[in-house]
Amino acid sequence: MPTTQERREALKAVFQEARACTRCPQLAATRTTVVFGSGNADADLMFVGEAPGRNEDEQGLPFVGQAGKLLDKLLGEIGMAREDVFICNVLKCRPPGNRDPHPAEIENCQDYLQRQVDLIEPRVICTLGNFATKLLRADPTGITRLHGREEVRVIGRRAVRLYPLFHPAAALYTPANVEVLRRDFARIPELLAADPPQQPRAQAEELPAVPDPEPDPVPELEAVARVGDDQLGLF
Ligand code: URA
Repeated sequence: MPTTQERREALKAVFQEARACTRCPQLAATRTTVVFGSGNADADLMFVGEAPGRNEDEQGLPFVGQAGKLLDKLLGEIGMAREDVFICNVLKCRPPGNRDPHPAEIENCQDYLQRQVDLIEPRVICTLGNFATKLLRADPTGITRLHGREEVRVIGRRAVRLYPLFHPAAALYTPANVEVLRRDFARIPELLAADPPQQPRAQAEELPAVPDPEPDPVPELEAVARVGDDQLGLF
């Protein structure tokens, strides 16, 4: 079992990799920064939005515009702050003109999100809007039907409580939906207080233990050390 510090360092290594990513040539050519995500690297609560917008692309941090202000306000209303949670997106690069993410881009980027979930080990993941909800549920059912209904889902190697919510930017277009989002938010503390979902048995546990002849070398420690916590917006 990796320690909290090891998971944090590994997360920084994934950030390093994402920063140089060119899997989506158009996004790599038009982005200003890769918006990997920010917050508490050991958070119980994670939010997954759609993709960075103009402000996020400029600042390298997720949800720093109007939608982010609403997110901060709603977090405050349940006694939480950004430092307590991890916030990221389905896409780590801004689609030009804020167009919708393309399916190939979502596919290219999903391994980063997967590794973020693996390393942060959240208990609850709030998907914000359709793109994150459809991706993490691997199902096309839309957010209007699903918001506010939690379910245990296995995301990669981890079981989490998945809790779909309206995207704050979409809620801002329809004031009544801000109240729906607020009501859904009010249940987050209850979900965090619930017993953590039972984790699937790791494959390694099912196999007889074979002693490792040589311990693995620590991967690229120097490269990891060069990423400052502040660059990743880690608290
Ligand atoms: N909308 C998103 O989905 N993500 C951001 O980071 C900002 C706005």
